[in-house]
Amino acid sequence: KQGGLIQFLKSIIFSFESMSERLNIGLNTSFPEEQHQAFYDRDKLEKIVSNLLSNAFKYSNNGGMVTVAVGVSKSHLTLKITDTGNGISEKDIARIFDRFYRVEGSETKGSGIGLALTKELVDIYNGQISVDSRLGEGTTFKVRLPFTLNHLPEAISVVNNEKTVDYSETTIN
Ligand code: ATP
Ligand code: MG
Repeated sequence: KQGGLIQFLKSIIFSFESMSERLNIGLNTSFPEEQHQAFYDRDKLEKIVSNLLSNAFKYSNNGGMVTVAVGVSKSHLTLKITDTGNGISEKDIARIFDRFYRVEGSETKGSGIGLALTKELVDIYNGQISVDSRLGEGTTFKVRLPFTLNHLPEAISVVNNEKTVDYSETTIN
């Protein structure tokens, strides 16, 4: 066992502290207290969180703020990542999850893969990702990943086969 899910999420999120300091963009975080059990592939979860967080910093400006709220319900892990950055126009929002799509003016900042991959990974868990944005004001991405039902059997069977490299039991604490 490699430690709890919340601990794992904290380590990903706090690894952005140096970027936060370097860019002078605040990092606000909140985490749940409750205990839960959940099964995810750490690699996939890490990519989901870090793609969204790196975008939040990359498309924000000096003096801005990135807020990350991790939550749990009976059945879901929820992530809400809000920035006070450039925002995304309605026309662009329709395409940001497309592979290689970049908003005009962002061409030097990335390759346009991050959100397409993030959505694919969320889909693997039968989760949902949504975005709410206002040009010039900022953006919020929300992710909902169901616990148990979909991946509990899968995770257990993999753990029983001792293939614990890709899947591991994680307990929210
Ligand atoms: P990569 O993630 O592959 O390095 P990227 O950041 O350009 O490159 P995506 O993460 O897929 O690609 O994002 C697609 C486009 O959506 C970006 O080019 C950017 O213009 C816009 N975008 C994504 N996140 C935000 C955000 N939080 N605020 C404003 N614009 C964003
Ligand atoms: Mg990106």
